[in-house]
Amino acid sequence: MKIHEYQAKELLAAAGAAVPRGIVVTSPAAAQQAFDQMGGPVVLKAQVHAGGRGKGRFKDSGKDWGGVKFIRTREEVGPVVEVMLKYPLVTKQTGEQGQRVSKVLVQEAADIAREIYVGMVIDRAIGLPVLMACAEGGVEIEEVAARSPEKILRVPVNPDTGLQPFQARRLAYDLEFTAEQAPKAESLMTALGRVFLEKDCSLAEINPLVVTPKGDVLALDAKMTFDDNALFRHSDIEQLRDEAEENPDELRAARTGLTYISLTGNIGCLVNGAGLAMSTMDIIKYHGGEPANFLDVGGGANKEQVTEAFRILLADPRVKAVLVNIFGGIMKCDIIAGAILAAFKEVGFHAPLVVRLEGTNIEQGPKMLAESGQNITTATGMTDAAKKVVAAAR
Ligand code: ADP
Ligand code: MG
Repeated sequence: MKIHEYQAKELLAAAGAAVPRGIVVTSPAAAQQAFDQMGGPVVLKAQVHAGGRGKGRFKDSGKDWGGVKFIRTREEVGPVVEVMLKYPLVTKQTGEQGQRVSKVLVQEAADIAREIYVGMVIDRAIGLPVLMACAEGGVEIEEVAARSPEKILRVPVNPDTGLQPFQARRLAYDLEFTAEQAPKAESLMTALGRVFLEKDCSLAEINPLVVTPKGDVLALDAKMTFDDNALFRHSDIEQLRDEAEENPDELRAARTGLTYISLTGNIGCLVNGAGLAMSTMDIIKYHGGEPANFLDVGGGANKEQVTEAFRILLADPRVKAVLVNIFGGIMKCDIIAGAILAAFKEVGFHAPLVVRLEGTNIEQGPKMLAESGQNITTATGMTDAAKKVVAAAR
């Protein structure tokens, strides 16, 4: 689960980080009031979960600026916020359709002498959180990481003890903060590390962390992603969820107890068990196809779940064929075949359906499908299933 910049900044501030003053608004009038309260230049920041807002553009607005706009005078505030709330914001991370904006952060503008990147992620190769930092932060960090990965400093963090003071000090030194700035930078890194561990983040970043000409060190932007599997112990974080930012199909699936992740291909997959779902996607790709999704209906796979799964898959206009790959372990194959047939009738298929069943009562399941008179192709084995569905999608 992701949260907005203003929410991430509140968490950081609560952990002791210095952040610029800001007020969240939902209308041009409220933005003007906030501007008056700030009493100086502000930056208007569209609140969407996607990154790259600064370089983004508001779709069809005809404006040459994006989701981060520097404002000097009161008169500019209203019209800019109007555009932000009216047109979807398209960034590198939103896809072409863009993302609607319903909140704008009116943030005190900072003078910037330096922009630095700091972020924490889980490094799966070493099985530890890692604090990453780069002296060349800001909107170009992806390019720096791709062009000169050696410029990204990495410090593994022991999750039991957290980021140690000596580690923060060492990083501050390597990032060439002055003696006066270093303690401020260290306290920002410490706050980031603390939030990351306490709230079970999978990613937390401050980009940019800025140094002002006066020597202040501030978190100007913040992004956080939380481990969904740990949300049960963070009701405070769960409350920050913004469903308007989440993929509607993924939300719908979660409510039925399905794990659904939307992808970019054209073959819908309905599988039980995460491991089988992964290998199903692999074998589709191996045979030249592209999965439209990852969908795990779980071990039980009852009729309601299968029906809802079909609805979600077929609501996706890109889906040109569907592969059902189910191992009847907890559920028997004849029960699953019955659920597929019932769902097939209820949902109304516009795409060819290939079904591969294996497991208990395998003699009955495929027979039921074949005898149903419905346009369902049965397959034996993963390879056969993958080949058939790839051909059907073409
Ligand atoms: P994103 O990463 O989504 O593009 P940021 O909040 O990082 O959004 O903003 C992009 C750039 O805009 C920053 O790198 C910084 O240069 C500038 N910026 C952002 N907030 C402020 C601010 N409060 N004052 C001055 N400049 C800002
Ligand atoms: Mg940023």
